Amino acid sequence: MKNALVTGGSGGIGAAICRRLAADGCHVYIHAHRGLQAAQTLADAICADGGGAEVLAFDVTDPTAAAAVLAPLVEHQPIQILVNNAGIHDDAVFPGMRAEQWHRVIDVSVNGFFNVTQPLLMPMIRSRWGRIVNISSIAALTGNAGQVNYAAAKGALNSATKSLAREVASRGITVNAVAPGIIDTPMSESAFDAQEIARLVPMKRAGSPAEVADLIGFLASTQAAYITGQIISINGGMI
Ligand code: NDP
Repeated sequence: MKNALVTGGSGGIGAAICRRLAADGCHVYIHAHRGLQAAQTLADAICADGGGAEVLAFDVTDPTAAAAVLAPLVEHQPIQILVNNAGIHDDAVFPGMRAEQWHRVIDVSVNGFFNVTQPLLMPMIRSRWGRIVNISSIAALTGNAGQVNYAAAKGALNSATKSLAREVASRGITVNAVAPGIIDTPMSESAFDAQEIARLVPMKRAGSPAEVADLIGFLASTQAAYITGQIISINGGMI
């Protein structure tokens, strides 16, 4: 049985990814920060269905906290599937963007990627098999007014994905990014109403977290062994 870690497993898309990986037979570490209760409820539901799941909690922007939780976990068995899904947005048009908004959004996505991925990588490399999927955004591909910080953070994640993919390709590890469009979660509910979605999305609907999770389930599988260094967008035809 493979161990999988999903950061932000307490959130909308993260929870669907955890369910999918558990259904595929992984033991899933559901990571949360503030949403510990949501993560525990999800772990209980997965275990009640016969799957394996447990909850981990730390702030991904805190390298010491991340290492303190992750290093002991991989001492005896590697985590071979990592989904860097934790992310925030904090939108403002650029002239009015506070430095704190800029730094915080980049801290969670980019430094969070570093703080979580680095402690897991050597054990993954030693096992000669791994899957890393970074959750990016369509905003990094098209740009988006009011999201200069978010697009910069996700763009950095895309570039990190491509470079890390080259570093570890010969070790049986793939590294890809998934760039969702508008997905039906509380994060997007606050940003888009139904009319706006119909205007922006050729399919006239938001995607579901399960649809994103299905793509990630495939990328995490053995069948996806030859796909690496890619930014794959799932967006209902927006680009
Ligand atoms: P949610 O707000 O539902 O989930 C965000 C998750 O990130 C939560 O589990 C939260 O943990 C975690 N998180 C936030 N900050 C931290 C932190 N400092 N340390 C640890 N964990 C943290 O959002 P979604 O499910 O919608 O988004 C998931 C990912 O998908 C994000 O990266 C987002 O940018 C991306 N995305 C989403 C789109 C959408 O339309 N929904 C579109 C494109 C990309 P907790 O709640 O436990 O604190």
